[in-house]
This record gives sequence, structure tokens and C-alpha cells, in this order.
Amino acid sequence: MIVGQRKPIQEIIGMLKGIKNILILGCGGCATVCSAGGEKEVEILASIIRIDRKKKGGPVETKEKTLARQCDTEYLEELKDEVDKYDAVLSMACGVGVNFLADMYPKTIILPALNTSFMGVSEEQGVWSERCAGCGNCVLDKTGGLCPVARCSKHLLNGPCGGSQNGRCEINPDIACVWQLIYDRLKGLNQLEKLQEIFPMKDWSSSLHGGPRKIVREDLTL
Ligand code: SF4
Ligand code: SF4
Repeated sequence: MIVGQRKPIQEIIGMLKGIKNILILGCGGCATVCSAGGEKEVEILASIIRIDRKKKGGPVETKEKTLARQCDTEYLEELKDEVDKYDAVLSMACGVGVNFLADMYPKTIILPALNTSFMGVSEEQGVWSERCAGCGNCVLDKTGGLCPVARCSKHLLNGPCGGSQNGRCEINPDIACVWQLIYDRLKGLNQLEKLQEIFPMKDWSSSLHGGPRKIVREDLTL
């Protein structure tokens, strides 16, 4: 899933300065799953905004709504008859949702309430961590299913770097050295010979360095 967290409240309050009629828009997808921008978080944020305005003596009207997803035309179209009623939409989706709202509603102010962080997993209650950087050319068949691009602090494809101590990363001892994990896993699978293969220099054109990416599936387009 895409993992994000709510921006500091003062930053959100600051971006809403002078805006009176706000649609606070949650997302029922990843933002709900990572407890950052679902129905519950929409309600909490709306209350905070109203209390802040009350304290400051400024008028505000909030409407709370949560779409199934904000990354899909089908759901964003649900707003088409009401979006003009608001001075701004404060999106609690990831950056993808915010962008798509801005694409679809060019005359409406669209504001982000979350900081989108990474693609990752829910390790345990309240703990999320990164697993994939969306490089566009997956190498996990060669690394035992563990990603050196997203999980090595130096993004090394021919690791380890030599600085790992007791299986921890030299850059960030709070995380495991993924190259140690790759070694341990390949050893357990009797596939250590995979480490003999030297990765050629990675072609990053399939990643962000190649510009915005797009996938068109002819078999699915109408
Ligand atoms: S190699 Fe690329 S696509 Fe595969 S998990 Fe890592 S970042 Fe994601
Ligand atoms: S210690 Fe391991 S994870 Fe950290 S930078 Fe070196 S190879 Fe990468």
C-alpha cells in the first residue's frame, strides 16, 4: 500500500487561511488502511479545524466525505455536482489522489492534508515500513524476494557495502542490512550462487529519472 501520515496540524491550518467553506475528503483505500486519511481521520481533522476557527473567531463550514478511492475517475466523478460549492477541497488521500483531483477539477483549490511517504507494509499495529520504490524493473528474482533498491540505504545492487555491523545497516542501525537478509535468505534456499552474478549498471529510465511513467494495457482499454 501507499503509506502516508497527516501533516502537522499547524501546516494544515496555515494552508486553509482565509478559506471558509472546505470539503475534507477522505480516501477509503491505502489512506484508510494506514490510518492517515480515512473516515475517522476526516472527522477528527474537521473537528480540529472548526475548533481552531472558533478560537480565532473566524467563520468556517466543513463538509466531510470519504470516497472509496481518490485514484480512480469513477469515484472522483461523484464530486462533479458539488465541488463548485466549496472554496477548497482538503484531500486526505496520498499525493496520487491530490494530483488526480487537481487534474479533474481545474477550477477548484485542492490542498494536501497528508505527507505521502512510501510504498510499504504494515508490520504490526502502528508500524509501517518501506518495501518497494517502484523502480519499474524488478530484480527480486535475483535477490531472494528482498529489495535492495528500497531497503538498502545506499540502494546498492551489488551489496553489501562492507559497513554492516551485526546485521544492521551502517547508515541507519535501526534497520537490518538488507544485503545481510538477502544473503541469509539465499543461503536458506540453497541459492547462494545467485550472489555470483554481478548486476550491470541499472537503467533508471524505467524509474523516476525517465520522467512521469504511464502503463497502457491494450487488452483492457475500451
Ligand atoms: S526492484 Fe524495483 S520494482 Fe522490485 S521491489 Fe525493488 S523497487 Fe520495487
Ligand atoms: S549496511 Fe547494508 S543496507 Fe546499509 S548501506 Fe550497507 S549494504 Fe546497504
